[in-house]
Amino acid sequence: MNAILWFIAAASVLWILAFLRAGTATWAITIGLYLVALTQWSGAGGSTKAALWTAFLIVAALLMVRQLRRALISDPLLNWFRKALPQVSQTEQEALDAGTVWWDGELFSGQPDWNKLFGTPKPRLTPDEQAFLDGPVEEVCRLCNEWEISHELNDLPPHVWQFVKDRGFMGMIIPRQYGGLGFSAYAHSQVVQKLATRSATACVSVMVPNSLGPAELLLHYGTPEQKNYYLPRLAQGLETPCFALTGPEAGSDAGSIPDFGIVCKGLHDGREVLGIRVTWEKRYITLGPVATLLGLAFKLYDPEKLLGKELDIGITLALIPTKHPGVNIGRRHLPMNASFMNGPNWGRDVFIPLDWVIGGREFAGQGWRMLMECLAAGRSISLPSSSAGAAKLALLTTSAYSRVRSQFKVPIGKFEGIEEVLARMAGNTYAIDAARTMTAGAVDLGEKPSVISAIVKYHCTERSRQVINDAMDVHGGKGICLGPNNYLGGAYQQIPIGITVEGANILTRSMMIFGQGAIRCHPYLLKEIAATRNPDSEQAGSQFDAAFWQHVRFVACNAARSLWHGITAARLINVPGALELRSYIRQISRLCASFAFASDITMLLLGGDLKRREKLSARLGDILSQLYIVSTVLKRYEDDGRPTADLPLIKWAIEDCLTRIQDAFYGVFLNFPSRILGFILRVSIFPWGKSFRAPRDYLGHQIARLLLEISPTRERLTSNVFILRHEEDPVGRLELAMQLASAGDAAEAKMRSAVKAGVIDGMTEPERIASAIEKRIITTAEAVQFQRFSALRRACIMVDDFPHDIGRSQAARESASITALAAPSQKTAA
Ligand SMILES: Cc1cc2nc3c(=O)[nH]c(=O)nc-3n(C[C@H](O)[C@H](O)[C@H](O)COP(=O)(O)OP(=O)(O)OC[C@H]3O[C@@H](n4cnc5c(N)ncnc54)[C@H](O)[C@@H]3O)c2cc1C
Repeated sequence: MNAILWFIAAASVLWILAFLRAGTATWAITIGLYLVALTQWSGAGGSTKAALWTAFLIVAALLMVRQLRRALISDPLLNWFRKALPQVSQTEQEALDAGTVWWDGELFSGQPDWNKLFGTPKPRLTPDEQAFLDGPVEEVCRLCNEWEISHELNDLPPHVWQFVKDRGFMGMIIPRQYGGLGFSAYAHSQVVQKLATRSATACVSVMVPNSLGPAELLLHYGTPEQKNYYLPRLAQGLETPCFALTGPEAGSDAGSIPDFGIVCKGLHDGREVLGIRVTWEKRYITLGPVATLLGLAFKLYDPEKLLGKELDIGITLALIPTKHPGVNIGRRHLPMNASFMNGPNWGRDVFIPLDWVIGGREFAGQGWRMLMECLAAGRSISLPSSSAGAAKLALLTTSAYSRVRSQFKVPIGKFEGIEEVLARMAGNTYAIDAARTMTAGAVDLGEKPSVISAIVKYHCTERSRQVINDAMDVHGGKGICLGPNNYLGGAYQQIPIGITVEGANILTRSMMIFGQGAIRCHPYLLKEIAATRNPDSEQAGSQFDAAFWQHVRFVACNAARSLWHGITAARLINVPGALELRSYIRQISRLCASFAFASDITMLLLGGDLKRREKLSARLGDILSQLYIVSTVLKRYEDDGRPTADLPLIKWAIEDCLTRIQDAFYGVFLNFPSRILGFILRVSIFPWGKSFRAPRDYLGHQIARLLLEISPTRERLTSNVFILRHEEDPVGRLELAMQLASAGDAAEAKMRSAVKAGVIDGMTEPERIASAIEKRIITTAEAVQFQRFSALRRACIMVDDFPHDIGRSQAARESASITALAAPSQKTAA
């Protein structure tokens, strides 16, 4: 008994020291005191005490005497670490080095500082930006008819192209000094989001020039001449840009592009100049078919050493006017019937002057680094914003349709089955919008959040896919039959585009989020890796020694915190924030510690092999991602001024994230390469078994209620959706019908009861209305309201029909050709 008590005391002391992340001296003094007490008062035998003292003194000397520690532990470990580290290619290294760490670093620290998050300013629009949204953006939306665009013109109408160019849409990210709008990331996001609620074609056409492409690259790396010439032209829409990286052989593995340029002398404008002979074949290039300026990525070689000493200079980016001889561009792909311009381009031995390299000679070979450094900002905005727009429109229309469409004499939104779907749609939309807003805000604070941009790209597009699928299910046949009155079918068809572009989602989840995040966001790993690369062995040794022992304390602390907070259900964590959400914030803090602990154990066990263990990496990435998303949900609630009416929605979104985190953790435990370690992880993270459950039905019920009426919550959730409030417009008509639904339903209910009671009669609706007025069941005003609602409802539930030979004429269109994808040599020959 005595021995057990001393053992428990020892374990508790160690646990507390780990929990408090005590320094080496504190460990030594505390354990020393424990041993003094043990020597004095325990009944342990003399030999046991001697053994314990000897072990303690050896370990203490090893850890506290720096020279001993370095020679016997840290330096050998550094050597081992050098060999164990996987070979990282230059392109991988540049991807890892790019961007900044922000809230993702806090999550990885195991102890996120919530005050820091809640204290970051709420993203806001300037009066100019708001005026742009209320003016030109509304106007573009009004000018766009997506059916006409996608089924008749297969392009934006010329006047819409002109309008967006003239009003500066193509230069939102270009500073005012160059004639651009100089918008914040948040304003840019709001514009993209609103356009996405009206026309995917307009949205993508505007989104791409403002994302990673010529303008962004010129801003960061362009020579003064390049900036002064191109930026004003891009801002005014005098140039239409595209950027070509992807080709048939290099999709996700974009660093492996086979396109090449050879440094040589050649004739340009009648003069011999130093330049590059470029051969390339690209595909999927958005705006390519109408571009006037082609941003091109290729590998540069200098066999004659005209630029210096190196043969293989590296990936290089150039700007080539598309009318330049030898540039083949203009053919189109048809991506899921979307009508934004997208197509291939190619060229063979096309000579361009060296001045066309973005940034000039100095930046030749720096292309991959340039792309990686600029990727984060665009990826943080484009797809999260367009996904938010698509989700908001789907939610707005689905909630209205659920209110307006009745079956079994009940609005379908009141059926529990539909309630469940509506709640999921609303929760996902809330999370998408919270994530895109907070991330755009981070970009405005100067961050280039590389890991976060991958998280929001992946999760906003995936959640949006779920929202649109759900919307289709609720709409039934109404969503399926295409035509001018279908506001969902286009979004449904085009979901895979968002999933694929800017880093295809499976790759993003499996390789990038945790693969990159673990190294970038970990507080010590990068320092340890840097030490392995330091050629000065003395410096490397002390760098590694410092980082490694802090790392050890970090792991011990997270292990102790994880177990303690698991046992106490995180009740003792002190957190700020709204009282009504503090229990959740505590759980999230607990899960951060658990995540940091599980990450370290996984990396310790697998080392470089983790790169190949994509399923494990993906699950850890899911945990990090949900921790980020749930943080954005909390931040959104704070930024909105804690509206209590939204609480069911927020709770749903948080509980959904928590269960996703739990599922991902269990996926890690069950599939952990060491079963015993998997078990230890499970017990230390979830000592009482699973702690979280999926959002309960009552929350779904409350959310559905909020959506089936015109409520402030519904308005906040679907803010910035373009609605043409006119009954000729399919979305505007639904909103009008929804506004009249309560009054219409009330009158209908009175008439239905009267029919049942035999008070009124009539075979048709007009007859029953006339009878109801006559018998004073409803007033004339109520009858008028009901008739208006009934007419709108019918218009809302109707779908388009066409002549029986619709589509036949399409077959006569120019037949598709695969020759465009033949090798450049064949194309040139052709
Ligand atoms: C409509 C559209 C517009 C585009 N616009 C442009 C543009 O303007 N400019 C431009 O340069 N590019 C553009 N792209 C390219 C795009 O950004 C993607 O990079 C590209 O489509 C991915 O290559 P891929 O389609 O050949 O897929 P692949 O690379 O063949 O990938 C196929 C599948 O394998 C998965 N995968 C690949 N590697 C891994 C891995 N290691 N682990 C797990 N899964 C993996 C992917 O996730 C994907 O699911 C566009 C693409 C489309 C479809």
